[in-house]
Amino acid sequence: MKILVLEPRGFCAGVERAIRIVDLALEVYGPPIYVRKEIVHNQRVVDDLRQRGAVFVEETDLIPKGNRVVMSAHGVGPQVIKRAQQAGLEVIDATCPLVAKVHIEVQRFVRKGYRIILIGHRGHDEVIGTMSESPGAVMLVTNTEEAEAIQIPGNPPLVVLTQTTLSVDDCTRIMEILRRRFPRLETPPKEDICYATTNRQEAVKQAVPLIDLLLVVGSVNSSNATRLVEVARSRGVPSHLIDSAADIQVEWMDGVDCVGLTAGASTPEISVQEVVEVLKRRFGAVSAEPFQTAQEDVVFKLPTELQQRDPEWFRRRAAGQGAPG
Ligand code: SF4
Repeated sequence: MKILVLEPRGFCAGVERAIRIVDLALEVYGPPIYVRKEIVHNQRVVDDLRQRGAVFVEETDLIPKGNRVVMSAHGVGPQVIKRAQQAGLEVIDATCPLVAKVHIEVQRFVRKGYRIILIGHRGHDEVIGTMSESPGAVMLVTNTEEAEAIQIPGNPPLVVLTQTTLSVDDCTRIMEILRRRFPRLETPPKEDICYATTNRQEAVKQAVPLIDLLLVVGSVNSSNATRLVEVARSRGVPSHLIDSAADIQVEWMDGVDCVGLTAGASTPEISVQEVVEVLKRRFGAVSAEPFQTAQEDVVFKLPTELQQRDPEWFRRRAAGQGAPG
């Protein structure tokens, strides 16, 4: 058996940035640093930061006054930030800039009197955050059935926005229905599904003809990792989401000559390498070859209050390269 290790996989620029923010906050201000919700949807990342002094809370209400709280990469509505500030907390916002861009689009279209259809997953942190920018103006559509059924009273100007981590294929199908039903529907000039989601799904699509099984390393609440499993399955290749090598089941490997391996955007590389080791040791994989379909070099700036504390930022400035971003 051989392993095709898909690339791009794992950490995206938004996740790197969010983890770096908590890291730096711990370094600069010292623990405890409070984090509202999981900073990114990966148990290993959360456990690691917790051990180093991060305290994860569901809401900011119970955080003692005077502390710092980091908002997760998935983004929050303005009320959440305001409530935290009113409670005497210092807020550090780790929202991915590509999620923040969708929030800004909501604000812009609401100001111009639009109703907004948001394609996304009900209950996902990112969707909750985006909708709370303007709860009355944003209507959620989660699948093709809802796209067929949604009713919009009157004839308001209408625009469609999307969650950043959707399946490109599902989104296209939903979009087609919405365009048919609402011919005046506008779409923003640039799609909201992010580069990292698109690239990881594209790698799976290109690998599918070569593999008998796809293992996706990621936590169950990771939207983009779950989509990778769906992309493979929808093309007839069995696929499983695993949090770690311990989740691999022996029977999955029956008759498998080539296993594809990838990881969601919040999965650390060490989890992928552990799976490679286990596939070699326990399942007799003879090789692990890279399968690269795109190159990524996206880096996002840190929030102003932290970017001057980042040694890499200093290094680049001293070298005359400017701040990353
Ligand atoms: S998956 Fe995309 S939107 Fe989400 S944090 Fe990464 S880059 Fe940002």
